[in-house]
Amino acid sequence: MEKKLHTLPELPYAYDTLEPVISKEIMELHHDKHHAAYIKNLNDALEKHTELFEKTAEELLMDLNAIPEDIRMVIKNNGGGHVNHSMFWEIMAPNAGGEPSGALAEEIKKTFSSFEDFKTKFNDAGAKRFGSGWVWLVKNKNGGLEIMTTANQDNPMSEGLTPILGNDVWEHAYYLQYKNVRADYLKAWWNVVNWQAIEKRFNKN
Ligand code: MN
Repeated sequence: MEKKLHTLPELPYAYDTLEPVISKEIMELHHDKHHAAYIKNLNDALEKHTELFEKTAEELLMDLNAIPEDIRMVIKNNGGGHVNHSMFWEIMAPNAGGEPSGALAEEIKKTFSSFEDFKTKFNDAGAKRFGSGWVWLVKNKNGGLEIMTTANQDNPMSEGLTPILGNDVWEHAYYLQYKNVRADYLKAWWNVVNWQAIEKRFNKN
């Protein structure tokens, strides 16, 4: 049987095009080193149970209990790293920002009272996430929207939730530029958020 190795998706824009919000140096390290390392570690772990190469990274995360215990944690961390970053590149774009439209905009307004309130709550949750992790907007089991955070590279899909968008609050995502001031990074990040891509994620799930 042919093994389907997990591969690094190409960045959908040039490394320097999210400047000044995210520097070229951060993008290069983040994509070429960090994301690439998650994929290498994921593939290396799957070599111990090659039948799992048949599953997508998302399928692995959605049923962690189905993964043999000797590689479960490695898959949770590195499969999560792969899925999270693949989403992250896709939900950002140069000359982006602004506000969502359509059904997502309505749902955000209904849930958080306004887009501004949503951003404030999201930034606040991201700032309070202790240590490394992610802050998310997810669709819950009842179809409603929620803000949540996860530690490490944990993905909400392992808890049966559908991630609509997420921001990476690991220091590697911002420290070279924003130093210890994560709150400034969280605020600036909205200027590179690609709402069209996020609306597609919302509408298909
Ligand atoms: Mn990262």
